This record gives sequence, C-alpha cells and structure tokens, in this order.
Amino acid sequence: MPSLWPDFVYVDGQFLSDRAIVCDDAGKINQVVESSEAPGAIRLQNRALLPGIVNAHSHALQRVIRGRTERRSQHTSDSFWTWREQMYAAANRLEVEDIYTVSRMAFLEMALTGITAVGEFHYIHHAPDGATYSDPNLLAREVIRAARDVGIRIALLRVAYARAGFETEANPLQVRFIEKSPEIYLQHLEQLLSAPELQDGVAWAGVAPHSVRAVPLDYLKTIVPFANERGLPVHMHVAEQPAEVTACIEEYGRSPVALLETEGLLSSTFTAVHAIHVTPKAIGSIARARASVCACPTTERNLGDGVVPVDAYFKAGVPVSLGSDSQVQIDLLEDARELEYHLRLQQTARNVLAPDDDASSSALARRLFDCATINGARSIGFNGGKLEAGAPADFFTVDLDDPSIAGSSPEDLLANIVFSLSRAAVRDVVVGGQMIVEAGRHPDQEPIVEEFKNSLRPSA
Ligand SMILES: [Zn+2]
Repeated sequence: MPSLWPDFVYVDGQFLSDRAIVCDDAGKINQVVESSEAPGAIRLQNRALLPGIVNAHSHALQRVIRGRTERRSQHTSDSFWTWREQMYAAANRLEVEDIYTVSRMAFLEMALTGITAVGEFHYIHHAPDGATYSDPNLLAREVIRAARDVGIRIALLRVAYARAGFETEANPLQVRFIEKSPEIYLQHLEQLLSAPELQDGVAWAGVAPHSVRAVPLDYLKTIVPFANERGLPVHMHVAEQPAEVTACIEEYGRSPVALLETEGLLSSTFTAVHAIHVTPKAIGSIARARASVCACPTTERNLGDGVVPVDAYFKAGVPVSLGSDSQVQIDLLEDARELEYHLRLQQTARNVLAPDDDASSSALARRLFDCATINGARSIGFNGGKLEAGAPADFFTVDLDDPSIAGSSPEDLLANIVFSLSRAAVRDVVVGGQMIVEAGRHPDQEPIVEEFKNSLRPSA
C-alpha cells in the first residue's frame, strides 16, 4: 500500500502532525516518518490515523438476538439466566450457512467501527441434534472464513464446554457446545491448529474453557497446560455472576479466581473475561500471575452483570482489554468510556481512572484507548494495537470535521475521540496493509447485510 499522510498520526500516546505512515509488502508498518521524507505519500486531508481497535471478547452469533430480548419473558423478573435461555434457543436454530452469514454481519459492523482484530469465543461445535460434524471444526472454520472475508484478523478462541454445572442436570439447549472429555477437545483443537487458514497470522487459535461452571477442574488441568506449552492465549469467563461464584465455592471451597490460582492455572497469557464479582485478594492473585482482565461494559450493563472494578485492577497493575461480547452494541470506544462512566455513577466522582502521576489532558483517554488497542492485542496473542516499525499495518482514520469531534485541538483530540466519537466518523480501515473500509464503506457491505436479513427466520 502507498504511504499515507493524514493530519495527525497517533504514536506513543500522542498525536503527531506532519507524519506519514510507510508500510511494507508484508503488511507491516515499515516506519512512521516526517511527511517530507515520504514524497509520494497520499495526503489524507482532515484525517487522524490511529492504531486498529482490538475486540478481545466476541460471540459473533449473538448478533442474531439483538433487540429481541429487551422485553419481559414469561418469568416474573428477568436476569442473565433468563436471557441465556433465550440466547441458547436462538443460537440452536442456526444452520451451517447461518453461522457464516451471521458472523460476517457482526464482523462487518466491527470493521466499520475501526476494529481490525477480534478474539472470537466460539462455542457452537455440533449439529442441532448434538452430532459431531465429519469436520469437528466445521463451524469454527465458517466463523474464521467470515472474518477473513470481511478482512479482519481473528483469534478463534475454541470453547471447551463439558457440563451444565456442578450437580446440575444436563441442559438440552447445550448439546451443540459439549465435548465431554478433554482428550476429545484437544484432538479437535489440534486439527484446528493445523488447518490451512490458520497459518498466515491473519487467523490463529486459542483455548477457551467456558467457565468453572461448565468445565470441571480435571478437564481444566489438561487443556490449560496444553495451551501454555504452545503459547496459545487462554480465555475464560470468570465471576460474571454471583451465582457462579457461589456454586464454585460449594464445589471446591474456593472462589473461581482462588481455584485458578491455587491450581496454577493463571499465567501471563490468561485472560479472565468479566471478573466482576471478585475480592481484593482475587485481584491481587490476577496481578501476581500477570494475567489480564477483559471487561465488556456495554454487555455487562445490558445483562445486569455488575460493574468491573477497573480502578482496583489498574491500581494492581492488571491490564484490562475490552470486548463487544453479546453484540448488543458494537462500538469498542463506547465500552472504553463505559469503564470510566460506570465507576463515576457508582462512586459519584469524576475522572476515577485518571492516572495519579499524569495531569495531562489526554492521560485518562490514553489509558482507556490502550484498553481498546494494546491490551486487547496482548490478550488475544498478537503484536498489534500500536503504530510502530514492525507492527502489523492495522489502523483506521477518523474525519476531523465529523460533528462529534470537530474543533478538537491536538491536545484534546484523543479525549474527544474516546469520549465523544460517533462511529460515523470512521472513514478508512486498513488491516495488514489492505484497505477493507474506504470512505466509511466496506465493498461487500450490501450483500453482507442483505444475506443477513434473509437468514433471519421468524423467532418461535
Ligand atoms: Zn462472553
């Protein structure tokens, strides 16, 4: 791709003017130079260029229930658990071709908001009757194909799911998820790891034990070390709901984080998704293991999960990434600002997450933007989220004249973007040096949306 010369380039936490970004043929950033040193650079007028956003926790298929669970179900009061039944019912209706079509819709929407890589927590493996397909990774590979066709990177975090819960009857709505033994799971994972479409750095795999509820300890102790020996990212839902913590204490006499720590399952490649209902001691355990946390505030507020104590995580030095999770909204900058806003509402205070040692006007915004970029890349296992020589050429531009951020100064531009950017301001999105969104449009946008609309069946 030719060199690009926008008004501002976001490098090392600040916007620099008169800079051009030069990429190499391998889809990496060659260098960021003074614009005078890149004579053939294409001028991008009224644009700021930022590193691509990384969505560290997604269930693409849940895009299909958007707008359909915002009403009272037959229960007298609704919760995460009643929502989950509705979500399972919708997910179970999806046929192979729907899995591709719905995923592609979710990934298109991600691309249009500047997301260039996704950690896809993929848990539907089998046919609707629970039978294993002749390729046990058929559905995972359809999801990967959808991401590749849209043009974003994907870490397929292959979910292990063994049971409904501790001393809980099997739930027929979970038959498409379950791989009873760790041996079967690992056999399927190894097949996925050797698939041809996972060999070029655009797609890769990770290990995702669903939760302590769904995966018993002996299973965890087989698959997590497997991932660790191979340097694969490990993602797991942890302490999303108080009931999960209570059940874990009942089964093991320890909270989920205490169980993971004492069994040696936490590490620097481990991401605890949500990690809401935790004690200060648990936060210390996550910090000591150099593990990270993925918060999903737009989903957590929608499901009534609770508030991630990001202030405590930051104080302990735990990196926090972000995920669109249930896809109720796909806009990771909204998640970034919610991290701060939830704490403001809870503590009736402002600038809760601002660092103590930096009074600059963009210090808080920078912290939140790191969650959406660098921390996400680290969590899903690649060297992205920043604009520097050798990093992947993954970035997006925003229109400086967009009404949502017009009038920003270079000093407050990042705070304008993090707290106020409308996703309509996103103009160009580049992944591996390839432009996948140009002037706010994806070339396949119309057929992707049309096929998605056609794939939706009336809900029962
Ligand atoms: Zn999730």
